[in-house]
Amino acid sequence: MIPSLPPAPARHALRGRAITFGANPFLDDPARALVHEPDALILIEDGHITRFGAFDALHDTLPPDTPVTTWHDGIISAGFVDTHVHYPQLPMIAAYGEQLLEWLERYTFPTEARFADADYAAGVARRFLRELLRAGTTSAAVYCTVHPQSVDAFFTESARLNTRMIAGKVLMDRNAPANLRDTPQGGYDASLALIERWHQHGRQLYAVTPRFAATSTEEQLDLAGSLLRQREGLFMQTHLSENLAEVEWISHLFPRRTSYLDVYAHAGLVGPRSVLGHGVHVDEDTFHTCHAAGCALAHCPTSNLFLGSGAFRLFDALDPRRPVRVGLGTDVGAGTSLSQLQTLNEAYKVAQSTGRRLHPAQAFWLATAGGAHALYLDDRIGTIAPGMEADLCVLDPHATPLMAQRAEQCETIEDLLFVLMMLGDDRSVRATYVAGQLVHDRDAPEAAGARGAGHITSFT
Ligand SMILES: [Zn+2]
Repeated sequence: MIPSLPPAPARHALRGRAITFGANPFLDDPARALVHEPDALILIEDGHITRFGAFDALHDTLPPDTPVTTWHDGIISAGFVDTHVHYPQLPMIAAYGEQLLEWLERYTFPTEARFADADYAAGVARRFLRELLRAGTTSAAVYCTVHPQSVDAFFTESARLNTRMIAGKVLMDRNAPANLRDTPQGGYDASLALIERWHQHGRQLYAVTPRFAATSTEEQLDLAGSLLRQREGLFMQTHLSENLAEVEWISHLFPRRTSYLDVYAHAGLVGPRSVLGHGVHVDEDTFHTCHAAGCALAHCPTSNLFLGSGAFRLFDALDPRRPVRVGLGTDVGAGTSLSQLQTLNEAYKVAQSTGRRLHPAQAFWLATAGGAHALYLDDRIGTIAPGMEADLCVLDPHATPLMAQRAEQCETIEDLLFVLMMLGDDRSVRATYVAGQLVHDRDAPEAAGARGAGHITSFT
């Protein structure tokens, strides 16, 4: 049994350079949407941010004896939000040679079969969440496997860390090996039991999770739709139009549906809090339906490049005339990194390949506030503001010699953020806070969970 983390101090404050967002930089001028406070003070009380502003303006208003941790040369940001990732695929990240459908058969299904063993699942869940926090990611929408014990393992560890996570049991009743298939009724019953156990248990949230249309019968998809209506605030996650061979297959499996998205819509699976992974090969009608329905697309550039799936049309999805909610996903294990900085690096290149320029403010919005907006959690996470949950990361733009020499030449915060997203990775995440609790300290790992006492530089 792993002990719970020691409680964070009920009240403490962070000082340092900080960035957050006052508007959506895809709809407003990116430079104006980005809020940059060169010397900020963030007061945290009982896991929530209660004050945020310039240190000089706020310092005298702090309650007496408030410990203040100063992050010199760091940039404090809201924690990153990963809108699409598979925790059971961590052991098979970087598997050589295949595209989507063959990659699933050859690598993914044999790996996921191991999660029948609850102890194995618990070990991977611990490693996965530790890696996420090392990458500065504090919330994610996570696929488990078909086994209910894989979901229990994940939520048990997430509840221990107090991270705000969305996860669910994969539903899969055809076109998969027998040891990874459930049945429509069995999948429904197991999901409902998991919803009772975990949905809105502390910060945990449940997502009904049909893997994708090819691995569920119509009966299973219909039951997934009825599951979604059983409780308030449930999520739905699945895959959409990732790869051309997959799109072709779906059109044969569901000849009566007008589009891939229509397969899910017909089952009642498309609406607010529905998160569709990829959407690489979709047309204007699908973007329009996503906008009207309020569902989200998860843009997973490292995965799309790794599997040769294609280039997501980010700026078409976000067209201000009918913007679709878009978050950023790492999609490990087809994605090649859990780092949102690395994911932004590839998002920038994918946008370039479609003739568009991803401004650093837009990029960091996608990784924080935009992801929270995609998940309908932007009233709780994704920005630094009073009332928000204190999920934060501290970025280090001087993490490597290469970054340090480049950062020295930066004249604006936008330049510095661009260096971070092009050259940064987990080494550039100096620290991570979850609900005000220090859970990762790159340079003093033993301090995580113990208040990071070495960094408290002053008391008011
Ligand atoms: Zn995926």
